[in-house]
Amino acid sequence: MKVIEHLEKAKGKTLFSFEILPPLKGQNIQSTFDHIDPLMEFKPPFIDVTYHREEYIFKEKENGLLEKKVIRKRPGTVGICAAIQNRYQVDAIPHILCGGFSKEETENFLIDLDFLEIDNVLALRGDAVKTHTYFEPAREGHSFANELVQQIADMNQGKYLEEELTNNCCTDFCIGVAGYPEKHMEAPSLLQDIRYLKEKVNAGASYIVTQMFFDNQKYFDFVDKCREAGITIPIIPGLKPLVTKKQVTLLPHRFHVDLPEELIQEVLRCKTNEEVREVGIEWCINQSKQLIAYGAPVLHYYSMGKADNIKKIASEVF
Ligand code: FAD
Repeated sequence: MKVIEHLEKAKGKTLFSFEILPPLKGQNIQSTFDHIDPLMEFKPPFIDVTYHREEYIFKEKENGLLEKKVIRKRPGTVGICAAIQNRYQVDAIPHILCGGFSKEETENFLIDLDFLEIDNVLALRGDAVKTHTYFEPAREGHSFANELVQQIADMNQGKYLEEELTNNCCTDFCIGVAGYPEKHMEAPSLLQDIRYLKEKVNAGASYIVTQMFFDNQKYFDFVDKCREAGITIPIIPGLKPLVTKKQVTLLPHRFHVDLPEELIQEVLRCKTNEEVREVGIEWCINQSKQLIAYGAPVLHYYSMGKADNIKKIASEVF
């Protein structure tokens, strides 16, 4: 079932969902199931699975020269989605990137998803690879997420890359895209970012999932600005509870989000990460309750491989 159908069926009740990472290469899928199992009691209608593009590492050879190697630390997004749908009978949403994919590879990826009866995707550009400052599209690939959304929407109309193909089956993907209440790090302004977001919607996106935020007012203002810009589709808030003291500096650096002063001071007063975890849970519970009162369609938790704190939050909220 598609995300928008789940939202229609919920008739205004806020739903619970979460996002998982594929396990590191070398680990088996049991670690993923162990992560999902404790959260199933909150009846997520869908679970997102992130996609991790290739990384480049440099290995020193005996002659002192450096050898560039391509590695993929967390493969398996599609396999995990199929396994989740099979085991739990809930929809799994693979994230799909522009980065590292030619249009042809994207088309083949989508064909696999269609055959596996995966009918939701979250379409993203992806970040620059770690050794690059700026994002570079793959050869024959997409530069921005709106182009990827357009390709998926075209397949939903039976339009494939090879124009000679006729009598094509139409895929039926429900397409989600990313939104940034505190603007994407490369965007010149929040308003310009929202104009680009509108292009993703015009290309065929049916819903938006936001970057994490720690101050609900940022989300409320973002929704207002999107509505003013003519974006009418559901905007799902993304939430992440803090778990370590280091995240006070790491998250703003990595995700370009602000932390409220009160939260920073509470975390800095903590003596151990165990205490930080409790502060993070409490903060996220309050955020969640306020977002439900506001009427958010879904609360989407970035679980980052840790189910126990999300379980504590969900027990208080759902
Ligand atoms: P875009 O919408 O393409 O925007 C990228 C930048 O370009 C923005 O600054 C925007 O303002 C600008 N822009 C957009 N369109 C145009 C245009 N037509 N012309 C000029 N400028 C334009 N990353 C992963 O690698 N794997 C994941 O699984 C993953 N999951 C995510 C899930 C969520 C909910 C979110 C919020 C992010 C996720 N990311 C993931 C991170 C994401 O890939 C990065 O934030 C990336 O830098 C931007 O992706 P986007 O789809 O928002 O890009």
